[in-house]
Amino acid sequence: MQIACLDLEGVLVPEIWINVAELTGIDELRATTRDIPDYDVLMRQRLKILDEHNLKLADIQKVIAGMGPLEGAKEFLDELRHHFQVIILSDTFYDFAAPLMKQLGHPTLFCHRLGIDDAGRVADYHLRMPDQKREAVISLHRLRFQVIAAGDSYNDTSMLSEADAGILFCPPQNVIDEFPQFPVAVTYEELMAAFKKASTEI
Ligand SMILES: [Mg+2]
Repeated sequence: MQIACLDLEGVLVPEIWINVAELTGIDELRATTRDIPDYDVLMRQRLKILDEHNLKLADIQKVIAGMGPLEGAKEFLDELRHHFQVIILSDTFYDFAAPLMKQLGHPTLFCHRLGIDDAGRVADYHLRMPDQKREAVISLHRLRFQVIAAGDSYNDTSMLSEADAGILFCPPQNVIDEFPQFPVAVTYEELMAAFKKASTEI
């Protein structure tokens, strides 16, 4: 039995924080872990900026709903679900992903959650567990599933390494260089072909 695990941002939907920054015009929200390596410091800064601009969860959800999935993502996911059970493993938050999940037909998603106060303000964030993408693959193995995983960036590589087969989708060059063992797909057609190929080889 094989399960497909997919990263979310950069694979099925745009990078959420970068697009929130663009669509709200708040440039400081563009910072990523490349600029501020300590994730907690980065998240505290993001929450502070949302407060300063008086942006509540509902405002951000509206922005995210307007973003929509990447072109062709829904069709790709629908087809992938004909061949495999699919679990999306993401480091985003349920509260942010909800409007996009609706547009993707509510696939299974494992991610984290935000702490929302009574006024609808994003007051805190809660990581379900560290390195949850890799832990999910380990757990699926324990349940006697084989796993084929695909992701686009650094935070996917532990999941890809743990899986029976890993695929990179539209990754940056430094990830391609550092992880030459993973095949690279740059279109959904290629990604589907890579899943099918891996499926017969593992
Ligand atoms: Mg990603």
